[in-house]
Amino acid sequence: MATFGQTTQMVDVIGKFVDLVSKKLPDDVMAKLTELRAEEKTPLAKAIYDVMFENMQKALTLNRPTCQDTGVIQFFVRSGAKFPLLGELRGILREATIMATKSAPLRLNAVEVFDEKNTGTNVGTEVPFIEWEIVDDSSNIEIEVYQAGGGCSLPGRSIVLPPLAGYEGAMKFVFDTIVDWGINACPPLVVGVGIGTCSNSAALLSKKAMLRPVGTSHPHPKAAEMEKKIEEGLNAIGLGPQGISGKKSVMAVHVEGMAHHPSVLGVGVTVGCWANRHGVIRFDEHLNYEIISHKGVSL
Ligand code: SF4
Repeated sequence: MATFGQTTQMVDVIGKFVDLVSKKLPDDVMAKLTELRAEEKTPLAKAIYDVMFENMQKALTLNRPTCQDTGVIQFFVRSGAKFPLLGELRGILREATIMATKSAPLRLNAVEVFDEKNTGTNVGTEVPFIEWEIVDDSSNIEIEVYQAGGGCSLPGRSIVLPPLAGYEGAMKFVFDTIVDWGINACPPLVVGVGIGTCSNSAALLSKKAMLRPVGTSHPHPKAAEMEKKIEEGLNAIGLGPQGISGKKSVMAVHVEGMAHHPSVLGVGVTVGCWANRHGVIRFDEHLNYEIISHKGVSL
């Protein structure tokens, strides 16, 4: 049974972590942006990257978010069945979101559904969004936070293709989506592709794919090949930083999948922008924590 002190402690740590994620990009994204910046040769593309890096430095020195759109807060929870605060976690994540909204400060981005009124707290019906997974029997928990901005959420799509469309049809859907909408999402992009059995499974898998650390490949060789082909094709479009043209359009393309009904192929696309604000923190049962995504950082 969790104590009040433990609940407060976890709110405090996660609130500070959400605040941090709004101001400091994770190690994987920083490493890739540094690599892509070095590849650009045209003055305009180089200038855009210079501004991005200056912006990131200023976010740290001025203690302000990296982008004015701090998104809708989303949590991806991967918990052991015995983590002691599992029953309290929904309330903890809501309180942590309210805390970070004040401290960062985060932009007020939760507009209550149907009433269309801003809640003023960044929480509302089903916001923060929480995706739950019980992964094992342990007493540890891993919590991933993602700050879903408007521009980068805009290209999100899912579709259920007929059987004859196959993986070629899935790839065409990804290309059409990024060509039509990718420029709205502040490139270079992280493109997540989900292969599912219906529209919602494909959409969720595409979000999980987008959140996979940049620089990783899918362990299945066919999925890894699909990632490579889509990445090469999207880079050939040459969106460049902020879509002003350049050598690369994307930081990465990640594909995740599941077994599916033989008659259909669900395909989802989720896009992350250059300011890809995600972070992973792991707790043990005593609430000792480790920040996985931002090495050497303390809260
Ligand atoms: S797409 Fe990303 S970088 Fe661009 S405005 Fe939205 S949150 Fe900010």
